[in-house]
Amino acid sequence: MLYIHIPYCHHKCTYCAFFSVARGRNVDEYIDAVCKELNERSTNNPVRTVYFGGGTPTVLSVNQLDRTVGVIRDNFDLSQLEEVTIEANPENLVPEYLEGLAKMSFFNRISIGIQSFSDGELKMLNRAHTSTQAFNAVRNIADAGFDNVSIDLMMGLPHPYSVGIQHSLNRLDELLPLGVIKHLSCYELTVEPGTMLERQLKMSRLQMCEDEELSFQYDCLMNWCVKNGFEQYEVSNFCKPGFHSRHNSRYWNRTPYIGIGAAAHSFDGCCRRWNKADIEGYIRGADNGSIPYEKELLTPADAFNEYIMTALRTVRGIDKTMLASLVSASCLSDFQLKIKKFISMRLVAESDTHYAPTPKGLLQADGIAASLFL
Ligand code: SF4
Repeated sequence: MLYIHIPYCHHKCTYCAFFSVARGRNVDEYIDAVCKELNERSTNNPVRTVYFGGGTPTVLSVNQLDRTVGVIRDNFDLSQLEEVTIEANPENLVPEYLEGLAKMSFFNRISIGIQSFSDGELKMLNRAHTSTQAFNAVRNIADAGFDNVSIDLMMGLPHPYSVGIQHSLNRLDELLPLGVIKHLSCYELTVEPGTMLERQLKMSRLQMCEDEELSFQYDCLMNWCVKNGFEQYEVSNFCKPGFHSRHNSRYWNRTPYIGIGAAAHSFDGCCRRWNKADIEGYIRGADNGSIPYEKELLTPADAFNEYIMTALRTVRGIDKTMLASLVSASCLSDFQLKIKKFISMRLVAESDTHYAPTPKGLLQADGIAASLFL
């Protein structure tokens, strides 16, 4: 698995705590540095999934993307490639740009950060696009010949601008006949420290939506998914059968990956490594052959807790064989005792191979996981 981080955006959304900067002036130098790191960290292991994430990878020109893709092709074994995703924002997805992307014959999945089809909600979030641009982006993608699109939407947006998720789901209904929307990621808005959203809430310019309303929106989402044949495979992720995100699903089952770019994380099966979140430092480091990064060896408890936390958010659940490979027999017995409580509460179901959350358990996955940590 290969992840490429593009830390640039047109401007900052009010809720964003990702590592991204608006109006980057050194994008070409950054791409040079990414190409150098790709050269440096090439391996013979086959790469099955590639993911360009951000930030907004589609702020790159087609030439900048093409240059990066060329270096990936030259340095990695892509003979078993299954899925290549690019995250995109609607304002970039105009016909000429998509034509350039299609000509590369590399990306086979586009994940669009739409978040909402309401102009009032988009404005409140300081998104760079309008609902019309979002709508046209999906049509343009279909016209350009891409047939595997994921849409990001948000639930639980603050008042007084929130119109509720049903409005966006109704607009999605109009786009479904195009046949290209195969995946939906739908996240509850969270308030991250230091964001503009946090300040707006503190100043009472916005009010978070109530739990009752959030749960109503969740029901709307679940009904829409059932009606349209989208299966839930993770707390926030839904897909047409067979169209789960292969890349993200591998994160959840501890597959090693290489992360390229400033702030990108990597995992080799034992250690986590993360490049420093510093674009200038990254560019300088790539120039002199020493990209700044930190690394930590995961203890068995870290590995166990991370696995429980991610696996319990998936419908498939916790794989017993994986669990046994991570910790000692006595830790495993402790875990088996603790999880009994959740099985008896019908929040978790046990099979020969897995402990899987029930639909009710999925809604409490984070809390259950926390109480199972070592
Ligand atoms: S587009 Fe995404 S990464 Fe960029 S500022 Fe908005 S939320 Fe953050």
